[in-house]
Amino acid sequence: MPNRAQAARRLAYMSQTWQEMPVLCAIAERFGLRAPIVADRFKTHAPVFDRPAEMNHRFYPMHKPPMNGLVKLVGILMLTAITIAVTARIADPAAHAEAIDKHTNARAKMVRTIEDHARGLPDILGAGGIALEVLDVMGEVERHLFVPVPRRAIAYADRPVSIGYGQTISQPFIVALMTHLLGAEADDAILEVGTGSGYQAAVLAPMVARVCTIEIISGLGRRAEALLADLGFENVRVKIADGYHGWPECGPFDGIVVTAAADHVPPPLVAQLKPGGRMIIPVGGVFATQYLTLIEKSASGQIRTRLLLPVRFVPLTRAGQ
Ligand code: SAH
Repeated sequence: MPNRAQAARRLAYMSQTWQEMPVLCAIAERFGLRAPIVADRFKTHAPVFDRPAEMNHRFYPMHKPPMNGLVKLVGILMLTAITIAVTARIADPAAHAEAIDKHTNARAKMVRTIEDHARGLPDILGAGGIALEVLDVMGEVERHLFVPVPRRAIAYADRPVSIGYGQTISQPFIVALMTHLLGAEADDAILEVGTGSGYQAAVLAPMVARVCTIEIISGLGRRAEALLADLGFENVRVKIADGYHGWPECGPFDGIVVTAAADHVPPPLVAQLKPGGRMIIPVGGVFATQYLTLIEKSASGQIRTRLLLPVRFVPLTRAGQ
């Protein structure tokens, strides 16, 4: 368990990403820390968690120190040196092996960070945290392959990463949390709405019998489909469509995970959930608070809905919008 100061440092670092900020706030609260309300953190400020609540202003501007000529020159020289070194190593098989190791280590670190976050949400996750199976799979799936090449260096960072078309691959902790909450079993059929990079589907695929995933942006869906096939995920089917309507021919489903925020729970998805099935979906408007919501359908078909925690997702868009 990190102490308060360690937690504060980690949270301040994590909060430089824009998504899932409310999760950070929830964790911060557990350590008696408070985050400022954040409107536009990316451009002008980063929240600071390590102050007593009464000292907490709303915003903390990040002042960029002006760069003088000498600093710039040293920067350029260093960049050149790094480029030469990297180029020299690309042709070197030993360097290639080292790069593979680097990703393995980054993944192991990512899993430890997920476990740390999970300890901050005992109400939702209990003392056991994220299921070991989920952590194991996330320790194996090569997340960097789902991230565009120029952003691979941050593929395992504790943050969402842009995947083009204005979309993001979710922060690793959120992927872990949603996968855990689905509680999927080996012979389950799962529907994902919002294929994006294909990463969430790749995390689900080894744990279940089959994954059907729908993406509305054809460029993203086709790219994910090709990558998943290349990587040998044979039990994943990808469809380009508006996922609001689900995929009846692929269902019914033991679990449904929606990775974009809807302003209401789409009734077709509820209809395609088997009795005893579960759906995880962020619900809330683009400018309103969104809640990660767990929907359970009982054996008799009754629906139980629980709002779990505030989150921030890209919106579920509708065909024709
Ligand atoms: N699960 C993805 C990330 C999802 S980002 C991953 O692991 O990478 C949300 C995705 O939902 C985006 O790719 C977006 O294009 C898609 N999306 C938004 N509205 C949708 C809709 N109505 N139907 C299907 N996909 C949708």
